[in-house]
Amino acid sequence: MKRYVFSFDDFKQSDNLKIGPCEYSFNNEGTIVKNSNLKLSIDANKYDEVVNIVCNITGSMAFECSRCLEIFDKNTDISFEYSFTKQEGSVDITDVIEQNIILNIPMKPLCSDNCKGICQVCGNNRNIKDCNCSENLNKEFIEEKWKQIKNNWGKYAKSKKKTHSAS
Ligand SMILES: [Zn+2]
Ligand SMILES: [Zn+2]
Repeated sequence: MKRYVFSFDDFKQSDNLKIGPCEYSFNNEGTIVKNSNLKLSIDANKYDEVVNIVCNITGSMAFECSRCLEIFDKNTDISFEYSFTKQEGSVDITDVIEQNIILNIPMKPLCSDNCKGICQVCGNNRNIKDCNCSENLNKEFIEEKWKQIKNNWGKYAKSKKKTHSAS
């Protein structure tokens, strides 16, 4: 893995140092990122005893929607700054870059805020085609309840008759 190390001596010739935009390979393992296509740009400037590093990561990351399970791309645009002093000598910002990307990964990725998700009954993706499962299910449920009520009432009426005839 490429490491991004800056040392104060890098700025002997010039107060400005630029990297990229270049391909950035993000380690997807252990994250919910399915795929990534990222570019990294770094703009570092020395001011007297301090170096200020501005990092920019753009591109896209692919996620699986937590509702409908479809894979979707999400645009990424992350910027952050980091600085180090002459006394510190040098700095390795490789982990800082990765942490900033991880911070921007949603806990529960959604392909869209109003994703309708997958039907619990037939497994249909309800964003593509709506099904009437929940309506039908309600109807069936009500019909079934009515049947039970009628049945119970029938039994109750019968037992009433029996006790009547017995007495
Ligand atoms: Zn979705
Ligand atoms: Zn359905």
